[in-house]
Amino acid sequence: MIKSRLDINQCGHGLRLGSAEITRVQDYHGPGFKSTFMFPDFKPEMWQEQQDWLIPRFYDPAEDRIQTSIHSWLVRTDRHTILIDSCIGNHKHRPINPRFDMRNEPWIERLAAAGASPEDIDFVMCTHLHSDHVGWNTRLENGKWVPTFPNAKYIFTRSEFERWDERRPDHVPRESEAFVFADSVLPVAEAGQMILVEDGYTVDDLLTVESAPGHTPGHVKIRLKTAGHQAMFCGDVIHHPIQLPYPEVWSVFDDDPVKAFQTRLGVLQDCANNGIMLLPTHFADPFVCLVKPNPSRPQPSFLPSWHL
Ligand SMILES: [Zn+2]
Repeated sequence: MIKSRLDINQCGHGLRLGSAEITRVQDYHGPGFKSTFMFPDFKPEMWQEQQDWLIPRFYDPAEDRIQTSIHSWLVRTDRHTILIDSCIGNHKHRPINPRFDMRNEPWIERLAAAGASPEDIDFVMCTHLHSDHVGWNTRLENGKWVPTFPNAKYIFTRSEFERWDERRPDHVPRESEAFVFADSVLPVAEAGQMILVEDGYTVDDLLTVESAPGHTPGHVKIRLKTAGHQAMFCGDVIHHPIQLPYPEVWSVFDDDPVKAFQTRLGVLQDCANNGIMLLPTHFADPFVCLVKPNPSRPQPSFLPSWHL
């Protein structure tokens, strides 16, 4: 365990950062894609050079499988309960990915264990609208997809919503996202629970939506500022810890790899320079870290300091 200069204490259900309590709600944790599929530019030397901290926690070299997590972040402020990203969901038809297809997982029970019911959620904030970030937006009720969180406003960026709106004449489908808009996004809009926002939208003066394009055109990072502390919910700006020492490693799911790299580098520099806690969606246990410069590479490169 590495102590950080952030004053983060274990509290009732998670971590306390200033006036916010942060809890993780798990939907999947285990082997993910093969690294050679997930990261097309990846070279085996990269694992080897970082193996003292990457193996076996984050990578299984025998199987060439990355270890991954898919989780939501539950943020409680003095005024509201906010869910950031909503994972894969249950009963979703995802023929392209067996890990996501027709699941039946006790995610709602895990949310309850974190201290919240679906009725308690005031805001759902999605970093982007890929299948593993919107799944629990809806659930199946009498054969119909309905919002899982009946009292919540769902916050999406306008550009991201428009990218995936398959009703638009200029819509470009993506095979990995088939059915996602129809079963996990559109029902929220039709229920009148969606708010489309722009860069800079703020919840409770604590959580700010900031543009972070590249993985998808309307992808955002969400910055938490409280009592002198900062945390960054970075979604898929960074998929895996290997992208700390090698920010140039891009994901096969990045829509625009060059822009994604620029965004990733900016986030990592921001975190390193300002002591910001990084809370990605897909880092395996221990899930969160601080970022420090990596002295062993001349180009911008980083190493993690783990909290948990
Ligand atoms: Zn993702």
